[in-house]
Amino acid sequence: MTLNTDYRTKTCGELRLEDAGREVTLVGWVQRVRKMGGMTFIDLRDRYGITQLVLSEGDKDFELANTLGREWVLQATGKVMERSSKNSNIPTGDIEIIVDRLNVLNKSLTPPFTIEENTDGGDDLRMKYRYLDLRRASVRRNLELRHRMTILIRNFLDSQKFIEVETPFLIGSTPEGARDFVVPSRMNPGQFYALPQSPQTLKQLLMVAGFDRYFQIVKCFRDEDLRADRQPEFTQVDCEMSFVNQDDIINMFEEMARYLFREVRGVELPKLRQMPWAEAMRLYGSDKPDLRFGMEFVELKDLFAKYPGFGVFDEAKYIGGICAKGCASYTRKQLDQLTDFVKRPQIGAKGMVYARVQDDGSVKSSVDKFYSQEALAELKTAMGAEAGDLILILSGEDTMKTRKQLCELRLEMGNQLGLRDKDKFECLWIIDFPLFEWSDEEQRLMSTHHPFTMPNPDDIPLLDSDPAKVRAKAYDFVCNGVELGGGSLRIHNPELQAKMFEVLGFTPEKAQAQFGFLMNAFKYGAPPHAGLAYGLDRWVSIMAGLDSIRDCIAFPKNNSGRDVMLDAPAPLDDVQLDELQLKVDLKQE
Ligand code: ASP
Repeated sequence: MTLNTDYRTKTCGELRLEDAGREVTLVGWVQRVRKMGGMTFIDLRDRYGITQLVLSEGDKDFELANTLGREWVLQATGKVMERSSKNSNIPTGDIEIIVDRLNVLNKSLTPPFTIEENTDGGDDLRMKYRYLDLRRASVRRNLELRHRMTILIRNFLDSQKFIEVETPFLIGSTPEGARDFVVPSRMNPGQFYALPQSPQTLKQLLMVAGFDRYFQIVKCFRDEDLRADRQPEFTQVDCEMSFVNQDDIINMFEEMARYLFREVRGVELPKLRQMPWAEAMRLYGSDKPDLRFGMEFVELKDLFAKYPGFGVFDEAKYIGGICAKGCASYTRKQLDQLTDFVKRPQIGAKGMVYARVQDDGSVKSSVDKFYSQEALAELKTAMGAEAGDLILILSGEDTMKTRKQLCELRLEMGNQLGLRDKDKFECLWIIDFPLFEWSDEEQRLMSTHHPFTMPNPDDIPLLDSDPAKVRAKAYDFVCNGVELGGGSLRIHNPELQAKMFEVLGFTPEKAQAQFGFLMNAFKYGAPPHAGLAYGLDRWVSIMAGLDSIRDCIAFPKNNSGRDVMLDAPAPLDDVQLDELQLKVDLKQE
């Protein structure tokens, strides 16, 4: 690395015992100052590390050293010396700098929280002063990892002849299932751009243009409710390929995943399994199952149907159980807590039934009065439960909803039992998604992925008769219960694309107005094509073991979509509104 020698000759992270005796100049921020007897020790920090500076009483700048505050910017010149008491916790811990000259380059206000690994600053404060938060090594390391991963990704895709093409942000609506963020146009009063939810249609047009293999590390904008793994703007590694089938594309992006895991974590991924969506829902109640642990669902409706008497089970459409190994010792209090957990509004179960397998093999359950030991013994066998195990059961009217509730319970048990180790990685592909899903909100079928997804050719006849049964040529990459990416084969035939819009409830006029450009393009020799997008923020979070994607984003937004540092969003002033010819008249709730 070339340093600007006007300011410094070395960084705060590079000096070692071999450098003893050298004259050096360092710059950095004051991490802390300690006074001991007639000596003052300063920890000087930059991006590369921390180096200890020492001044003694009588030194020219000793007085100055005693006036320094945290986070002041310093330049220090002096000689590298071996330390008498070494610090093996930091790479520069064998040496210190005996300072000749100290130069304050800038003062600092006392920061509102400590710039330490375990800072005393709460989330809001750290976000308001994110530039100070970013000085903390743990946050910086996440951004360094992100940088490294983007380099690896670019290298991999370049080696496979992908070409990175930028696509515009000021476009029209791109349906990915969220709301659009919109931008008013001054030159076209009363009209709005929509920011891309993804470059989906544009990358497909690049295939029509013959680019063959495209990628882009690109921001996508989706106005949806936020969670730990969602931000209103996030980054995708967006890819598209021509003349490929599903296996080709899965192999390519599995190879990329393998390369990233190898380079970043030293982990060798095995050949990944491909699990049909229906199986994932049946066994785990999720299209992104966490396979770091088993605890698969066992469907119990048929079993309990043989022993009527308990109204809740008799009336349920779905009854499913999980077996928590060794948890029969759960106390009543713990079981009540689990019941409260599944009854939370976000989860929505009505209750939970449990059964403990006792040491003698008999079963003690919360529904003992409705079931004979014979029925409970059958339950034990069906669940594969042994002495000491705990069986947890949920039931409900709606199979999918109940499975999702059971999924939450399974994940909670995984957490409680320490089965979700962040240093273990279990990846798989989910395939054969349904092409459509029913939206309660919109009261119509919606695309599970987006309207450009190819139906499974075997199911095309069902498009008219039973569209909910049509499977898609779509696939998601899942790791540790997180969807790290997904994609599909695309429709490249204008008639089939028009049919899709029809099934989705678009009139031909609306389809033409919104997506005419794509259907027209398909009339000019569209190649068969397919693609995938990996979520970069989630990839970095998984690799770094983070709980929230915010921790690997330099300037993230909070849960209300606000940037608390920039105080955005904010009202427009009248001049801007006039230029846009807009009047704000908020509808009353
Ligand atoms: N555009 C899709 C998405 O953002 C990914 C793809 O189908 O390539 O999820």
